Amino acid sequence: MTAKSNGHYEVVAELVEAAASYMDLDPQVRTLLKEPIRTLTVSIPVKMDNGRVRVFQGFRCQHNDVLGPFKGGIRFHPEADEDEVKALAALMTYKCAVVGLPYGGAKGGVLCDPSKLSKGELERLSRGFIRAIAGIIGPDKDIPAPDINTNAQLMGWFVDEFAKIKGAYQPGVFTGKPLILGGSQGRIEATGHGVMLVIREAAKAFNFPLKNARIAIQGFGNVGNYAAKYLHDIGCRIVAVVDVFGGVQNPNGIDPYTLKEYEQANGSVKGFPGTKPISSDELLAMECDILIPAALGNQLTKENAADVRSKWVVEAANGPTTPEADKILQDNGVLVIPDILTNAGGVSASYFEWVQNNYSYYWSKTEVLERLEKIMVDAFKVVYEASQNHASGAIPLRVAAYVVALQRLAAAMEARGWVLV
Ligand code: NAD
Repeated sequence: MTAKSNGHYEVVAELVEAAASYMDLDPQVRTLLKEPIRTLTVSIPVKMDNGRVRVFQGFRCQHNDVLGPFKGGIRFHPEADEDEVKALAALMTYKCAVVGLPYGGAKGGVLCDPSKLSKGELERLSRGFIRAIAGIIGPDKDIPAPDINTNAQLMGWFVDEFAKIKGAYQPGVFTGKPLILGGSQGRIEATGHGVMLVIREAAKAFNFPLKNARIAIQGFGNVGNYAAKYLHDIGCRIVAVVDVFGGVQNPNGIDPYTLKEYEQANGSVKGFPGTKPISSDELLAMECDILIPAALGNQLTKENAADVRSKWVVEAANGPTTPEADKILQDNGVLVIPDILTNAGGVSASYFEWVQNNYSYYWSKTEVLERLEKIMVDAFKVVYEASQNHASGAIPLRVAAYVVALQRLAAAMEARGWVLV
């Protein structure tokens, strides 16, 4: 498997250019953001269970750290590639900036199929990757976290390997750790909780009634399941949910708590009693009030965007809407709340985990969720105001979110003397 380029990074660069055209962005700032500060490609030799060595390829891309240490997850995936990792690193730069976190953006990837590795092989690969990137990460340099196919267990191995390399235990170098190793209360729920908070604030701003609002969710994993529960708790009606195996719908509403229990017992939401089946494509096109893509990227494309019959699309996944689809949704009057704002609850809770590690003092779940609420409410307000108060008239929330992020990045570059003013 080798790295390939398929334009993910170009898409993020286009989003930045689009936002830059709505503001007076210093060309030097544009130049500094154009390419990542560093992309490290590593080869990781792993002794497999059969005694033979296999070499895996991995990446760590550090896009920009003007606001603070780099931050971003590490994914283990057979299709991970350098272009995608670069794009996701850049998204992290803008996501951290838009919610006001003191972090830059990074992302990592290892080309592998973890489902085909034994537990021992996975551990040796995880430790090998950390040995390969140890020189460029650290609690004040670059703080990785879980992403696709990586979890708290891998963070435990990462922390342990890093401690051995440095001769010192530094849990703040990774977030998303098990609680026993300094993980944070509330981290699991944080992204879904943030999705609900953004929807709640947007509903107030746009005078959109949430009582019984019909919600359709693509993906019932960490993000989709907690978003469903928190939205249910504030009076919304979950009318359809799909996962990778199939989906369910009920116009009268589905209880997400019992649905999760069912999914855990059966491996899928498919067949949940009292519902009718629905496919992922049908869900994306169903009539509802809020459509929440919470699974994969590139789900709404120029092929299906015109079919969307939801009033809002709230991007809980990273990059679920292609630029062409975004334009179609906008032309059709669908309000899109962008990923860098909607799903920023996850990195915000990671930030809290890092702060707690730095202090070696731990907060309750209630404290974490209260602090998260403040970050998300403030971030929505700033983006909403930027979208409403632009000199040229109202601008889309996505453009506004990038404008806010770019303003903060430019101000920090100016203050640090990275650009001549
Ligand atoms: P997850 O692996 O826990 O859940 C993914 C869900 O999507 C599962 O229910 C899976 O069955 C479903 N799915 C996968 N392929 C599908 C398909 N083709 N059609 C329909 N459903 C499909 O992942 P997650 O942590 O919930 O992340 C979901 C998205 O949110 C990703 O885009 C991720 O990058 C983004 N995100 C996650 C976090 C976080 O804290 N977990 C933070 C920010 C962004």
